Amino acid sequence: MDRLAIHTITTKAWDLPTAAKKYADAGVRGMGVWRQWLDGRPLAESRQILDDHGITAVSLVRGGFFPHLTPEEKQQSIDDNHRALDEAAAMGASQVVLVCGAKPELSLTESRKHITEGIAACIPHAEKLGVKLAIEPLHPMYADCRSAVNTLGQSTDIIEQLGSTRVGIAADVYHIWWDPNLEQEIQRAGKHICGFHVCDWLTPTNDFLNDRGLMGEGCIDIQGIRQQIEATGFNDWVEVEIFSDRWWSHDPDEYLTKIIQAYKNHV
Ligand code: ZN
Repeated sequence: MDRLAIHTITTKAWDLPTAAKKYADAGVRGMGVWRQWLDGRPLAESRQILDDHGITAVSLVRGGFFPHLTPEEKQQSIDDNHRALDEAAAMGASQVVLVCGAKPELSLTESRKHITEGIAACIPHAEKLGVKLAIEPLHPMYADCRSAVNTLGQSTDIIEQLGSTRVGIAADVYHIWWDPNLEQEIQRAGKHICGFHVCDWLTPTNDFLNDRGLMGEGCIDIQGIRQQIEATGFNDWVEVEIFSDRWWSHDPDEYLTKIIQAYKNHV
C-alpha cells in the first residue's frame, strides 16, 4: 500500500480536500494531482491539505502540448509548461507528466520536432526547481491531436538527444502494452522511467478516451510489465489513472475499495 497512488481524475467526483481525506482514510498515501484540482485556492493551501492528510503529490498532470501553428501558440505552450513546473514544485511533486501534443495540421515529423524543442526550452526551469519533465508516450490512436510521441523507444530517443537528467518517462500500461518491442524498450529506457501508470484495456473499448478498465478487467499483462519495469531498478509509486464514464457513474466510496482490491490482486 505504501506505493499506491491514485490520480485525482480517477475519482473525478471528489475535489482535492475530499480526495485527500478519502485516500488517507483508505490508507492511500500518494496522489497524482491533476491541475484542475488546484483551481480556486492558493497553491500553499492545496499543499497544506495534502500535508495534513499525510498524502504525497506524486506527479502533476499535465504539461506538454508543444506543437504549435503560430509563434504566439509556441510561447503560450512554454509559459504554460513553466507554470506547470511551478505548480509541481509548490505541491512537492517530483515530476510534471507531459502529454506532448500533436497538430493534425502538421506532419508527425514536424510535431515531433516541436516537442523536442519545447521540452528543451523547459529544461532550465525544471533544473532550477528540481522537477522532472516526464514524457508520457501515448497510444498511437492519439497521434492526431494528443501526442506524436507514441512509444517508449521514441521517448528514450528524445531524452538521449536532449541529454538532460531532468527529462524522464512516465510509462502507462494503457499506452505501451501493444508494443512488439516493449521488453527491449523498457530495458533501453531503464533509469529514465520515473513514473508508472496503471489501468486496463477493455474489449471492446467503446470510447477512445473514457472507457478504460480497472486493473484486471482487461487484457493488459500489468504484472508482467511491472516486473519488467522493476527489473530496471524502478521502485517508485504505482499510479492508478483511469478515465471511465462507467466507473465515474459508480458510488465513489465503493469504487475506491475496488481500486485498492484491484491494485492488490492485479498489479
Ligand atoms: Zn498515464
